[in-house]
Order: sequence, then C-alpha cells, then structure tokens
Amino acid sequence: MAVVVAKFGGSSAADGIQIRKIKAIVDSDPGKRYIVVSAPGKRFSADSKVTDMLYLLKTQIDVSAPYEQVLQVVKERFLGLEADLGVDVGIADEFSVIEKKLKDGASADYLASRGEYLSAKVIAAFLGYEFVDTAGLVLFNEKGKFLHDETDAALGATLAKYERAVIPGFYGTTPDGNIKTFSRGGSDITGALVARAVKADVYENWTDVSGFLMADPRVIENPKAIKNLSYKELRELSYMGASVLHENAIYPARLAGIPINIRNTNLPDDPGTIISADDEVHGGQIVTGIAGNKDFIVIGIHKNMMSNEIGFIKLILSILEDYKIPIEHIPSGIDTVSLVIAKKYLDDKLDDLLEEFEKKLGADSIEIFENMSLIATVGHGMASVQGVAAKLFNSLTEAGVNIRMIDQGSSEMNIIVGVETKDFETAIRAIYDAFVAESS
Ligand code: ASP
Repeated sequence: MAVVVAKFGGSSAADGIQIRKIKAIVDSDPGKRYIVVSAPGKRFSADSKVTDMLYLLKTQIDVSAPYEQVLQVVKERFLGLEADLGVDVGIADEFSVIEKKLKDGASADYLASRGEYLSAKVIAAFLGYEFVDTAGLVLFNEKGKFLHDETDAALGATLAKYERAVIPGFYGTTPDGNIKTFSRGGSDITGALVARAVKADVYENWTDVSGFLMADPRVIENPKAIKNLSYKELRELSYMGASVLHENAIYPARLAGIPINIRNTNLPDDPGTIISADDEVHGGQIVTGIAGNKDFIVIGIHKNMMSNEIGFIKLILSILEDYKIPIEHIPSGIDTVSLVIAKKYLDDKLDDLLEEFEKKLGADSIEIFENMSLIATVGHGMASVQGVAAKLFNSLTEAGVNIRMIDQGSSEMNIIVGVETKDFETAIRAIYDAFVAESS
C-alpha cells in the first residue's frame, strides 16, 4: 500500500466542521498514515488565525500591555474544538503550562508553536492516531540553522515506531531544547520533511484551493487549474509570486523524489496539482502557467565603449553587494546595462546607491524607470515549439502593451517580459488568451 503523508493547512483545521472533513479524507485511504497539521486558521474572513493571535500575545507582553484577553480567546478556540469534537486532550492544563511559561518570559517561537502543538493533539485524538511531537525531531543548530540530515534521521527513526501519527507542523528545537519555528507557512516544510523521513510515495498538501491555477484569478476570471507542474516550472512561477506552497517545502520532497499533490479539503474529489520532477509536456500544452509581479525599478546605465571595459559589470555587482541589494535581471546592450530590482529593496537605499554609482562608474547617463512589472510565461512545452515568442509578443502588441524588457532563460522554458505597471493586467490577459483560452 502506498504510504501517504497528508499535511492539512490552517483553513483545513479552522474548526470542527473542517476537522471532520480531515477525518473523512484520512479515513477514505488507509495509506494516509502520517498527518501533519497547521494551527487553526480563519473560520471566516474577519476572523483571526491562531498563529497571529499567539504572536500578538508576545507583542502585548513585550510592551507590558494586558495579554489575558488574547490568551483567553486562543484558549477558548481550543476548548471549543475539544468540546465540539468530543475529545479530551487536557486543553485547560495545557494553557496553565503556557501561561506559566509566558510569565517566565517565553519566546515568540515557543508561543507561536503552541498553535500547531495543540492542533495536532486535538486532531490526533479525533482521528484515533498517535500524537508525535516534533520537539527533538525537527532539528536546528544553536544558531538556528535548520539541520536537514539530522532531522531526516531523527524523524525517520521515531516515526518508524508508529503505524499512524499526527505531527505538528512549523517548529522543532535547537540543541538546548528551545523551540524554533520555520518562517510563516512553515508547516508545509514539516510535511515535506516527514514525507522524506518515512519515504512516502506521495506528499499530499491539503489546502483551500484545488492546486495551482494557470494565472492569478484576480486578473483572469476562472483560470484553468494546472494538473502537472515540474519543480523547475514551479520555481519559475513561485519566484514571481504565486504562493500556494512554502518555497522551502520543495527541497526535501525533490531530494527524495516524492511528488507533491496539492489538494482542496473542501473539494476532495478534485485531483489538484501534482508537482514532480517530471519535465514531460502534458497533452501538448505549450504554456503551463503565467505569473507576474508588480513593483520593480529599472536602473539603466549607459557608458560609451562599456563592452570593452573589463570588470565594469563586476563593479556594478560589487556595489549592489555592498548595499545588500539582490538583483532580478540584468538585460544588457553593447553600451548599456539595465538593472531590474524589486522596489522593496530600494525603498530607503535608492538615493545612496545612485550617488555611489555616479562616483564609481564614470557612466554617461543613469536613468531610472519606475513602475515596471515583470510577467513570466512558463512551460516545458515552449522549448520544443517554434513561434512561441512571436505569438507572445504579437498578443501584447495587439493588446497595445509596450514591452520594455525581454528575457528568455537558456532552457527556453520561460519568457519574461517587463511592462509598465499600468499595462500589467492587460498583458497577462493577452498572454492567457493567446496560449490558454485559445487552446481550450
Ligand atoms: N501556523 C503557521 C502560520 O500561520 C504555520 C503554518 O500554518 O504553516 O504561518
């Protein structure tokens, strides 16, 4: 029987109704032996996530503001789950421990982790599975750096003793036993680590959408779902801002060759998206997805005879390094080089950076273009077909979009265009219509 690790996100663990859906999903397949869960998320749009409330608790304490009410709200959510699901995991006692630790100066990581810890306790009891804590199994070094191989060994050895277990996501421990969390959304990572450790056949990641969509639904009405996505394609798409899965969840699954299946807890019959190493082109499809990101700035540097000057680009890059500014793309011409940089990295550094460039580069001119957006059209199918670029540029021309920058990766699985932010939505629609809507 295939071993399945199923991770359920915050929306899937938000209340008793959702947790009953988890049970139906888990009970439908005896292969679902290891279940990783998030803290309860929002039950309705104005609701608060438990994790957010736990961070708020810490802030209240740090500024010596009253915290009791926030703690009470979190406690009531878990007491409510206990009562609703008819389980007894000692929530009241757990909160006495938390309150005591809180008074002793508990860390933000410890407090935040309690959401996952208690969620896993409740869900384990409801499913009739064993609860296995990740403290001492998901391991970080004393500096807080995550330890991949040590974690794999510890998780593997412990989980081998359990036929079925529920495991809290999001956190582990440092050598002194203190709790350390991953970054936000990090239960996805725990799920992938568990999948690797138990050598699962598939890592199911259950959330509130039926996988990845071919384009942002805020721009394209009812975009098609992506059935198959390779790791490389996902990287190109997530890098541009499509976030369904935590980026760092890919590595462990990819390393172990385990496909990730994104599924929808509310529509469990939907097949969702399968992410795997499979680079095949499915169903003759050229484009797999289109993702875009607004808010880039372009710094255009012009210097006569630039191309003959040795070390010029290196000098630019070393200045950017000094300022700790990452760079997205560097399209260049014979005497020009453009630096495409996400605006957020320049917010408080642009003036100083320009001053430094002026001092050190001896450029003839330096121009700034604000409001640039990047759009990536991605798909393995693009490499084998002629005329893809022509079709893409034509669609933009016909839509009246001025292309400011073009970049094609050498693997030919992506074409990135830079357009003015005012044209962002129009450009995405034009590309989608040309490659996706037309082919259906
Ligand atoms: N509960 C954590 C968060 O809200 C981790 C997770 O859900 O993956 O970020």
